[in-house]
Amino acid sequence: MSGWIFGSANNSKWTQTFHRRKFTFQNPLRQNFKHQKALSALTGLPDSKIHSLIIFTGSATFKTFMPANVTRRAGGVMYIRSFDQQVLSADETSTVLETIRAGRLAPGLATNRQHVKGLRERKRNPACPKCDHLMVKRTAKRGTQAGNQFWGCTAFPKCKGTLPIE
Ligand SMILES: [Zn+2]
Repeated sequence: MSGWIFGSANNSKWTQTFHRRKFTFQNPLRQNFKHQKALSALTGLPDSKIHSLIIFTGSATFKTFMPANVTRRAGGVMYIRSFDQQVLSADETSTVLETIRAGRLAPGLATNRQHVKGLRERKRNPACPKCDHLMVKRTAKRGTQAGNQFWGCTAFPKCKGTLPIE
């Protein structure tokens, strides 16, 4: 973002002023809070092990006092380096990364309700063999398989990945 940024931890909306115009946007801390909850539900990690960090890129200037986890560019690195306690072992880290990769939803489906629904279904829905997005049950409308169910990629129509249902 560019321009001047006004906001605080408690405001639901933050303001950006830019060329004498005013824009409001959702408090990114609140947005990240939902991300933390989704990550915690997906990985089983407690909230205390998931840190929220907001990094503004671009030329934006903060015009109000910001919490330590709201920074610009290099400030994000400094914030991360301010933690020196190991939280996860190397094995736990790879397990968490794999879980996140497998649970990722197609962009555009990422509303909160679908997040939660997707997380709940994750255990029985496979990941697309082509692009790794979540797959959902679909019914073939045409061809010799008409009426039969199959796993279809949620990135359809961009991705045509399918799997048979066993
Ligand atoms: Zn796919």
